[in-house]
Order: sequence, then structure tokens, then C-alpha cells
Amino acid sequence: MRNSIALVFILLLCCPLLAQNRIEKCASRYLESIRNKEAELTAFFLDMPKGGDLHHHFAGSVYAESFATLAVLRQMWLHTATLKLANQPGTESDWVKISDLQKSGTWPDYRDRLLRLWSVMDFQAAENKPSYAQFFNSFGHFGQVEDDLDGGLLELKKRAKAEKVAYLETMMKRVNCGPLPEKYKTYTALLQNLARNNESAALDTLRSLYRQLRTPGLENCVRDFNANLNERHQRLGIDDEEFTLRYQTYVLRINDPMFLYRQLIASFLAAEWSPLVVGVNIVAPEHDEISMSNYQLHMLMFRVCTEFHPTVKKSLHAGELTLGLVKPEDLHWHITSAVQTAGANRIGHGVDLAHELNSGVLLRQMAQQGIAVEINLSSNAFILGIKGSAHPISMYLRAGVPLVISTDDAGVLRSNHTAQFVQLAQQYPQITYAETKKMVFNSIQYSFLDEVEKQSLLQNLAVDFQVFEAKWGENAHRLKRNEAVKSKK
Ligand SMILES: [Zn+2]
Repeated sequence: MRNSIALVFILLLCCPLLAQNRIEKCASRYLESIRNKEAELTAFFLDMPKGGDLHHHFAGSVYAESFATLAVLRQMWLHTATLKLANQPGTESDWVKISDLQKSGTWPDYRDRLLRLWSVMDFQAAENKPSYAQFFNSFGHFGQVEDDLDGGLLELKKRAKAEKVAYLETMMKRVNCGPLPEKYKTYTALLQNLARNNESAALDTLRSLYRQLRTPGLENCVRDFNANLNERHQRLGIDDEEFTLRYQTYVLRINDPMFLYRQLIASFLAAEWSPLVVGVNIVAPEHDEISMSNYQLHMLMFRVCTEFHPTVKKSLHAGELTLGLVKPEDLHWHITSAVQTAGANRIGHGVDLAHELNSGVLLRQMAQQGIAVEINLSSNAFILGIKGSAHPISMYLRAGVPLVISTDDAGVLRSNHTAQFVQLAQQYPQITYAETKKMVFNSIQYSFLDEVEKQSLLQNLAVDFQVFEAKWGENAHRLKRNEAVKSKK
């Protein structure tokens, strides 16, 4: 029996008056009493069971401090003018070994500069450097040290468990199967044209290309990818009694479309063949010129891959856009197309909802089909400047679309899962404790885990909430008693 179950029995024995629904009401009352107190909210939500984090990128979730420590351990070289790292120095005199910087006492200053380059630390928006550029460029800067997959995974697990996150669905790696064979490169222009002018011809061409691109070589590459992932997962002992981690693989929407398509086929195969790879995603800046011009083609590619692999789940970044970042007409259709053309099972961000044409129809469809939206408050505020009433979270909630709260890139954004719930409570006082709790249960219910694992995690979550509510509900009682004593004086 889990320790927490035993604790619930003890708590209920100690507090017989606190029947379970009363305990939940007490916890709810306590939340309302601290809604304007950020420190109290932080303590409350740190302790709250959070279910799963369904939207986060592996490299963007590792903190910059870990990359800096790794650079020291690897005895790397730093180009002091550009802050590039390398295992071997280039020919310029600016390359200095980090151990020499440590000896001269200048390393702490360079380390601080690296942390600012690799994250949003101390960032001040300026005309020549918008916040989205700081965010997305950071991934290119720490590329030399983000390959420590073992260390990164253990960091994510440790942080998750400390924050009472029982499940991570991590966008970990792409399935790299080498360059696109030369003979397929000419299809890019043809497909782009068909996607704009003749969708059914585009679909037929993509079906034919699927059969050609799925070669024994590609399949072997996917088997190697899955075997490596499984080896690391087992060797590190990632899953335990209180924690589960599964992976999504993904494609980059800024890649050449034909290269992307071959990688997407490999991604669907990986997800179909490995129980650890539970879904496929598409990432990189949605407002990028290449992303924007190929968006509908990407959705058609997902549709065709789904025809060949109907059991594979898809969570698609869609609608991570806002007025001013792109042309108004580009805000009208991305979430709709991800749902209706690509058949997304979940939507990441979904921020431009209010601009989608026929958003009412879309909302009804998402509610009826249980297409959840992954809400990333810190990320949306920093990258898009969208928060408070500008965010469509209330529209989704009112329409009955399932919502989950996720982190996106806690390392780059220097945030954590707890802070997302603090922001939720602060920015949306109309969202009740019961609705917040529902979002936590959604994060397991709408995860891509198989049914048996899902039911097991949901049962654990229910028990964890009983413990949490008994503990924090007591706080509400104590506050009430103190107020009563005060009013008598
Ligand atoms: Zn994301």
C-alpha cells in the first residue's frame, strides 16, 4: 500500500468531521483566502498534486545552470567574444579554456553572461530584439551542451517529483535518419503548389510518397532510435512507483517540407512501435516564414500519416500566434486546420482562438471530441505578450473544452509547474478550485498513456488529492478559528 493511502486513513480518523466533500470545500476556501497572496499561493500549489506536464520541450526544460556545469565538467573552451562553447579551440585568440577562466577569477562573470544568453534571465525587451527572438534563439546558443540526455532526464524527473508531478510527456528528440535522398527534393515545390490549389491531389501525392519513403533503411533507423531510447530509459530507472515518463517525438516546421515528411513518417513508426513513444508533435516558431508558408501542407502530411497509423496520437502546436506577429488573415485558421485537417488529439497553446473564423463551431467540436488544449501561461506571456483577459482560456473553459496546465520551457523561461498554477489563480480569479483540480485530472485523462497506466495514475492522483486537501483544508479551519478568536477580543 502506498504511504499516502495510509496517511489519508490516519487523517480521516483524526478529523472525523471532515468528510471528503467538506475537506475539498475547506481546501477551496483556503485557496480563496490566499488568492491575492503570491507567497501563500506558491506554497499551496507547490504541495498540490499536479498530475502530468503534457507540454514541455526537453532542452528548454533543463536549466542553464546545468549546461554551464556540464561545460565545466567537460573542460570546454569558451570564445570570450561570442560566448560560443567548443570541445576544441578555434584558431582565434579569443578561445580560452574554462579552467583558465576559473584560475583567473573571470569565470563567474562569463557564467552569468551565458545564463542570460541561454535563458530569459534579466531580459529587457528592446526594439532590435523582441522577446520571441530571445526565447527561440536561446536554443541555438546552448546547443553545444544540450546533448547530456542522461543528466537532463534525471533533472526533469527530480524537479517533477519535488513539485508533485507524477507524469511527464517529454518532447525529447527527433528521429534522425540522415538527409533526404536527392531524388525526392523536387517534390517540395510540387507539394507546396498542390497544398494551396488542389488538396485532394496533394493527399494522393503524399500517399504515394509515403510508400516510397518508407524503406527498410528508414525502418531500421526507427528501430535503432527506439532501442536507444528504451536503453536509456531502463538504465536510468526513469519510471518508479510514484513517477512515469513517456516521450513524444516531433518534426521541425522550419525544415524543408520533404525532409520533414520523411522524418514525420519515421516519427509515426517510432510511436507505433515503441510503448515509450506515445505521440508525435510539430515544433519550432509557428510565425516563421517557412512555417507559415507550409502550414497547410504540414497538416495534410499529418493526415496522411494518420491514415497509415490510425492509433498514433498527435499533439500539435497550433495558434501560437497573435495580432501584430503575423498578418490578420494568418490568425484565422491554424487551430481549425490542426483539428479538422490533421486530426490533432490535443492542441498546444491555441492562443489565437478568438481570431479563428467560426471559433464557436471549432470550440463545440473540440469539446465534443475531447480535444484538450495545453495552456502555457508563462510562455504565452513572454513570447507573445498574451496574458490575463487577452488569453482565450475562459473561452475554452466556457465551451467545455478540456484544459491542462503545462510549462513549455521551464528552463529557458526560468519558471516551473507550480508557477503556472500561481499565475492561473492570480490572473483568473473566476477559475475555481474545483475547475483547477479538474485541469489536474485532465492532465492524466488526456495524456497519451495507455488505458491501464492512465487508470493507475488517476487512482493515485485521487488519493494524493485526499491527502493534500486534508492537510490544506485544516489550514482553512485554523484561519477560521483564529478569526473567531480575534472577533471575540
Ligand atoms: Zn511548445
